Amino acid sequence: NRRFLLSRRPHGTPVREDFSLVEQPVPSAPEGGFVVRNCYASLDPAQRGWMDDAPSYMPPIPLGDPVRATTIGVVAESRSPDFSVGDWVLGMNGLEDYSVNAAGGFTMKVDTSIVDSPSRYLSAMGAVGLTAYFGLIDVAKPQPGETLLVSGAAGAVGSAVGQIGKILGCRVIGIAGGAEKCRRLIDDYGFDVAIDYKGKSVEALSAEIGAAAPDGVNVVFENVGGDVMDAELLNLAMRARIVLCGLISEYNSPEKIGVRNLWRVLTTRSTIHGYLIMDYVDRFAEGGAQMAQWMAEGRLRIDEDVQVGLENAYDAFMRLFTGANTGKLVLKIADG
Ligand code: NDP
Repeated sequence: NRRFLLSRRPHGTPVREDFSLVEQPVPSAPEGGFVVRNCYASLDPAQRGWMDDAPSYMPPIPLGDPVRATTIGVVAESRSPDFSVGDWVLGMNGLEDYSVNAAGGFTMKVDTSIVDSPSRYLSAMGAVGLTAYFGLIDVAKPQPGETLLVSGAAGAVGSAVGQIGKILGCRVIGIAGGAEKCRRLIDDYGFDVAIDYKGKSVEALSAEIGAAAPDGVNVVFENVGGDVMDAELLNLAMRARIVLCGLISEYNSPEKIGVRNLWRVLTTRSTIHGYLIMDYVDRFAEGGAQMAQWMAEGRLRIDEDVQVGLENAYDAFMRLFTGANTGKLVLKIADG
């Protein structure tokens, strides 16, 4: 059982030495529980936060434990009446070949016969698509004709947010890093305007947003924070809604960066909504059905960036922070 352990808490940007890949015996199923052979693991910016010893919405990953990850895999041994060997299951496990699931955990069975790859349960049918869906539909509630501004727009969550915004009748502006990602925003995801933030001052970025949205933006879907958010705040329309979904520009920064233009929230009477997808677990079936329908209708495209091999976990994870990932980042650990 190969396990990718957190062996030291990263200081700033994680380095290879913060982790170790070890070989341990394959675990046995506990009474009432089962063992999963992990096939695909979700690599998420949130995992960086769980590596810090800091209060958050989940406990820190204990040192010496495998890096916590949502995985999809196959039951390899079962002592549970509810799970049989060969069942495909989705759950919070770790970056390792085999994970033990105790009785009463929240792992769920999934039907892989209805998807072209089991990894879909980590992307389109998983938390990523639903993060976009509920953040827009339930938190921001955009009206047709409103202007929606998305940061981290070419990423997994951001690209879905922009496409759902178009389905809802919004004018959609995306901010992403580099010309190729901006091309994809327009050509692949149907955004109205794409803005490259790389190498630009807050003032320059703000001017570009202002040129694209002369009447201001009504909804901001924030994935990035820092300077990008500061430029966005300078372009709020009156009573704008900001969905605070992520702050990836801060995750590797030992000191939090924050924003300086909060005064614009005040003068425009805008609201900032902190948002976590885990509050919507009870409504996943509803959101999943809508996402599946839009995909079947060809109105929604969810790309995956599948990296292969547990031994490549560090390099794969770092793609999130260099911006190398092109779609939902997934690590393939084994065949199904
Ligand atoms: P992405 O697929 O968007 O990948 C991360 C992207 O972030 C990179 O490709 C890169 O794109 C961008 N990025 C990385 N570092 C920086 C930086 N310093 N400044 C600006 N942009 C940067 O990941 P996800 O879709 O999985 O996650 C996107 C956001 O959504 C994250 O903030 C994440 O924490 C958040 N999230 C929140 C959830 C919630 O419940 N609130 C649930 C899931 C995700 P580029 O090349 O454009 O810079």
